[in-house]
Amino acid sequence: VPERAAHETRSTCPYCGVGCGVIVESVDGRITGVRGDPDHPANFGRLCAKGSTLHLSAAPELAPQIRALHPELRTARSAPRQAVSWNDALDHLARRFAGIIAEHGPDSVGFYISGQMLTEDYYVFNKLAKGLIGTNNVDTNSRLCMSSAVAGYKQTLGADAPPCSYADIDDASCLFIAGSNTAWAHPIVFRRIEQAKAARPAMRLIVVDPRRTETAEFADLHLQLLPGTDVALFHAMLHLMIWEDLIDPAYIAAHTTGFNALRELVRDMTPAKAAGICGLREADIATAARWFALGGPGAAAATRRPTLSMYCQGLNQSSCGTAKNAALINLHLACGQIGKPGAGPFSLTGQPNAMGGREVGGMANLLSAHRDLSNPDHRAEVARLWGVDDVPAARGKTAVEMFEAAARGEVKALWIACTDPAQSLPDQALVRRALEAAELVVVQEAYVTAATVAYADALLPATTWGEKEGTVTNSERRISRVRASVRAPGLARHDWAIAADFATRLEALLPRRAAPHGAGPMAPSGRQLGGRPTLFPYTCAEQVWNEHRESTRGRDLDITGLSWSILERDGPQQWPYPEGARGGKTRLYENATYPTADGRARFAATPYAPVAEACDARHPFALTTGRLRDQWHGMSRTGSVPRLFGHAPEPCIDLNPADLARRGWSDGELLRVSSRRGDLVLPARASDGLRSGQAFIAMHWGAEYLAGRGAEGQARLGVNGLTLPVFDPQSFQPELKHAAVRLEAA
Ligand code: SF4
Repeated sequence: VPERAAHETRSTCPYCGVGCGVIVESVDGRITGVRGDPDHPANFGRLCAKGSTLHLSAAPELAPQIRALHPELRTARSAPRQAVSWNDALDHLARRFAGIIAEHGPDSVGFYISGQMLTEDYYVFNKLAKGLIGTNNVDTNSRLCMSSAVAGYKQTLGADAPPCSYADIDDASCLFIAGSNTAWAHPIVFRRIEQAKAARPAMRLIVVDPRRTETAEFADLHLQLLPGTDVALFHAMLHLMIWEDLIDPAYIAAHTTGFNALRELVRDMTPAKAAGICGLREADIATAARWFALGGPGAAAATRRPTLSMYCQGLNQSSCGTAKNAALINLHLACGQIGKPGAGPFSLTGQPNAMGGREVGGMANLLSAHRDLSNPDHRAEVARLWGVDDVPAARGKTAVEMFEAAARGEVKALWIACTDPAQSLPDQALVRRALEAAELVVVQEAYVTAATVAYADALLPATTWGEKEGTVTNSERRISRVRASVRAPGLARHDWAIAADFATRLEALLPRRAAPHGAGPMAPSGRQLGGRPTLFPYTCAEQVWNEHRESTRGRDLDITGLSWSILERDGPQQWPYPEGARGGKTRLYENATYPTADGRARFAATPYAPVAEACDARHPFALTTGRLRDQWHGMSRTGSVPRLFGHAPEPCIDLNPADLARRGWSDGELLRVSSRRGDLVLPARASDGLRSGQAFIAMHWGAEYLAGRGAEGQARLGVNGLTLPVFDPQSFQPELKHAAVRLEAA
C-alpha cells in the first residue's frame, strides 16, 4: 500500500497564554502528531503534556461522541432540538433577535464569548453587538481571567500593555511570582525559569501563594500568605523599602505622580502589622522587600539589579483584584524596576487569546484598539471606522452582571460562544436560573459535552483547533498565526463566519444604524445587502484581521506595519508594529514615558481590603480553586485524552493532614463541602501544601463528575456551585479564589 503524503502545518497551541508554537502533522485529513515549533520564540520547540497530546484530542473517531456536528433548533423548551440547515437556523435566530430588540431594545440581548476565540472571531462579535445592534452587552470569559490585570495596568501605567517579554526571565536577578502556579498553569514559561536558575544560581525566586505548589517548592523564599491578603503584603514591602531607602527617588520624581499619597497610605502598614494580616513572618516580608527592590541579596540601591514580577489569577480573581495588581506595580515604579531588561510587571495571560480580545475591545467596558468607551472622541472614531452612526456610551453588562440580568428577565436573548458558563461562572445555581429564564439561548460551541449545551434553544456547531485560521496574541504581546490542518467535522463553521452570517441577516431586519456615507472607510466593498453595503463583508479571516489592523492606527498597540504575509515570512511578532517598523517591540517604557496625559506613571493608593466572604463558625474553611497541570478549563478537549488523567485521575478536596486528623477523617473519605450557595461531595486528600483551615478544589471537573446541589435544590453542580458572584468594582472580575465553606462527613 503506498504511503499517503504527510502534511505539516505551523500553528499555535490553543490552551494557555504562553502561546507555544506547534507543528501539526496530518495525513489524509487526520491530525496524526504534534511537536513543538523550534522557531517559535514562546517555546523554542518545547511543549507541555497538554500541548504534546493535542493530536489525540483531535482524533476523528471522537467527533461523534464529543463534537457538535450540525445546527439544531428547538421551538419550545419542552421539545428536543432538531437538526436544521444553517440557513434555517440563522434566519430563525435573526428573526428572533430582531423581534426581541424591536420590543425590548438593544440592551435586551447579550453576547458572552471567549478568550479561546481567535482575534478575528472576537472582532466580528464585538462589531455585531456594538456596531450593528447598538449594545455594549458583549463580554467574555476573559472577565474571569485577565480583567483585573487590564484595570491594574490602565490605572498605573495608562494602558493595557504588558511591558515585558519572556526574554526578560533570562535577564532577571530576582523573580517575584505572585498568585501563579506557573509550573502547572504555564509550564513552558516555568521551564524557562528553571533554565535561568540553572544558568544563574544566584538569581532569587520569591513565590507568593497560599499553597505550597510545585512553583513554591522551587522558590528561594515562599510567602505562604493567607488568601486575599496580597495588598497588605505589597504595601508592607513598600513601607520597608521607603524606611530603608531602597526606593529610587530620582525615577519617582521624574516619571511618576501620586507617590506622596501612597507613602501616607503605607505608613501604617508595617511589616509587623502585615505579618499579622497575612499570616507571615515579619522577617520574610523584609527579605522579600529587599530582594525585590535591589534584585536579590548583596546589592545596594546604587547597584540595583533587575526584578521581574509574574502574576496571574491569584491576583486577578479577587474582589480587590485591581488593587492587588496596582499595589504590585507600585513596587516596580517605586524602585525603577521597569523598562529595562529583566525588570517589570508581567501579567501572565490565562487563556490563549485573552489579549487578542482586549485588543479588539471585545468586552462590555472596552472599545476597539484600547479606546475608552467613556471617551466621546474614541466612540466617534470607532463609529466612523465601522460606518455606523454611533457606538453606545453606557458600559454593557459584564459577565456576572449579564447572567444576573438574564435571571431577572432583563436580558432576554443570550448568545454564548466558545465558553461554558454553566460550569465556569461563579454561583452556578444563579447561572442556570439565568439560562432557564432567558427567552432565547444560543450556544455556539464545538463540543456537545459543554454543560451549557443542555440549555441551548439553538446549538450552532463551531470549528476548533486544527480546523481554524486566524491569529492569537500571547502574554508577551506576540501575535501568532493559527492555521488549519484538517477540515472540520460535520457542518461546523468558523466562529467569525457564523457571527458575520448571522449579522448580515440581522442587518436586513434592523433599522439602519449606518452613517450617511454607508459602509465605513475600511470596510471592503463588494458584498451588498438589499442594495447597500453590508457592515460584515468578509469572505476570509484575513479580511477581518486587516480591518482590525486598521483600527489600531495611532494607538499604543498600532500594528499597521504588520500583515499576514509578514507573519508568514518572519513568524510571530510583538506589538506595537506600526507602519514603517521593521519589527515589533520587546519591551515597553524603556524611555520611561507612559501613555498618560502627562507621560508619567501613576501610583495607586488603594487600601487593603479583606476577602468578600469571611470564614466564620458556620463556614470555617477558606476554599480556593485552581488549575491542575494536565487539564484545561472544563476538560472539553483534555478530557478526551486518557493519558492526561494519569496526573490526577479524579476530583478531590485537598486539606491539611492536621485538619483531617482533628476531625477523625481519613485520606479518601467522602466529605460534603458546603458554601452558602451549594454543596458538593468529594473524596478528601491530605496535602501538607495547604495551611490548616484551608481547602483546595481543582476547577476542571463539572457537574458530570460531581454530585452536588445548589442552594435552591438544583442538582449537579461543579466546583463553581460553591463560589460567590462578588466581583471587583473596577475590573468586574469575580472572586473565584476564595469562598468560605463547611465540611462534614458525607
Ligand atoms: Fe500549550 Fe501552554 Fe503547554 Fe505551551 S505551555 S504547550 S501553550 S498548554
